[in-house]
Amino acid sequence: MPDDARFLPQYDSYIETLFAGEDAALREIRERALVAGLPEINVSPSEGRLLELLARAVGARRVLEIGTLGGYSAAWLARALPADGKLVSLEIDAHHAEVARESLRRAGLSALVEVRLGPAAESLARMGADEPFDLVFIDADKDGYEGYLKQVLPLVRPGGLILADNALGAKHVASGAKTGIARYNAAVAGNPGLCSMMIPVFRGEGSVDGLLVSVKTG
Ligand code: SAH
Ligand code: MG
Repeated sequence: MPDDARFLPQYDSYIETLFAGEDAALREIRERALVAGLPEINVSPSEGRLLELLARAVGARRVLEIGTLGGYSAAWLARALPADGKLVSLEIDAHHAEVARESLRRAGLSALVEVRLGPAAESLARMGADEPFDLVFIDADKDGYEGYLKQVLPLVRPGGLILADNALGAKHVASGAKTGIARYNAAVAGNPGLCSMMIPVFRGEGSVDGLLVSVKTG
């Protein structure tokens, strides 16, 4: 294997082929989203597998997603759940929510996933901490990330995970600008109740982004 950044596309396809091959159901979710005109900003198969792995690693039974789009990342996460598990996914766009619900139904995941329509901040404000989540995946409007962190912290059990997508996007961090992502990354890094690390992830053709992984220690 080459060990040079020029070969990132080869690493990307090597990893995806070995570890993150899509089955027909996952491919159909992506294709239905494309046909419905949704933007192609879903997680890559490699990142989807990483989400599934992390959910399994913490024995997740209750998962919260912020930003459903066409239900692609939701499907990877839902597959990590036991039969009586639950994934609540928050989405502001009615068309996205409708496409996701139908795709998840076709994938046999309806019983596990509830797509909740509305601005995430409002849906989160209505949630109580009585049934805490084992894992939260933040992947909606980037300027909202910092606020979502504050809202989800009380909703996650100790030892649970808070994951944030696009945490290493070039336009977000490499520029040095104080973007929503840069503010989120700094807030997480400075939070003594979290143990965090940035995991670089491939997103197709060797492009790289990051999943910021935080364990709630307190
Ligand atoms: N997690 C998805 C991708 C999500 S894209 C996947 O990987 O498959 C981001 C989504 O967040 C979009 O569908 C967008 O409509 C939604 N979104 C944007 N602002 C939001 C808000 N304030 N509340 C809830 N959802 C929001
Ligand atoms: Mg994303």
